[in-house]
Amino acid sequence: MKTIGILGGMSAASTQIYYRLLCDMVRDRLGGLHGPQLLIRSLDFAPIAAAQAQGDWDGLGRILNYEARALQAGGAEILLLATNTMHKLAEPMTAGTDLALVHIADATAAAIHRAGHRRPALMATAFTMEQAFYTDRLRAAGLDPVIPGPEDRAQTHRIIYEELCRDLVLDPSRAAYIAIVERLRDAGADCLILGCTEVGMLLDTGNCPLPVFDTVALHCAAALDAAGLPAT
Ligand code: GLU
Repeated sequence: MKTIGILGGMSAASTQIYYRLLCDMVRDRLGGLHGPQLLIRSLDFAPIAAAQAQGDWDGLGRILNYEARALQAGGAEILLLATNTMHKLAEPMTAGTDLALVHIADATAAAIHRAGHRRPALMATAFTMEQAFYTDRLRAAGLDPVIPGPEDRAQTHRIIYEELCRDLVLDPSRAAYIAIVERLRDAGADCLILGCTEVGMLLDTGNCPLPVFDTVALHCAAALDAAGLPAT
């Protein structure tokens, strides 16, 4: 099994989900006492979120590159960047390293294709929904993403940063998210990407009116494939 390096803390709430899920998935695949061989570096999200809000992407790219090098020095071979938004910086992050980055959007697009869908709704941070780095990657993979309208984007983003990234899971926000998914379905979406690693704290296949593709689960499964584990 190759060693997976997780760069997390963006937010800490989602990094906990990654670790739990990777443990569960390795047990499912290998059984017995098996668990993932991994290391985690977890950042303080407050200064990261402040730099995002200021648009200091160059500075953030330098931080991610430093962290990737540290993961490699610690023995990581596979790199998991445990946030959709920061994949905007996938290239500067991996520059000068030998790490194999498992790209969260590619893992998600592949799963949507396998399931035969084409028009995924995308619920994510405003950065991920509104900037080209993510939607263009989905389009390059042959998908036609459906983005929420301006008010729904603002509400989705607010709930991520003010609640989910602070480990707050509130029923009114779940209801608001489900109403957004209904509007996306009515706009022609044929499935839903949980395009932020915390959105699964509110939405799942049980409460969504569309088939759900959770980027965390798909990212973890792709990482285990890349680490050489047999599929279940
Ligand atoms: N974890 C989130 C994501 O998947 C948002 C936090 C961040 O901006 O990194 O995009």
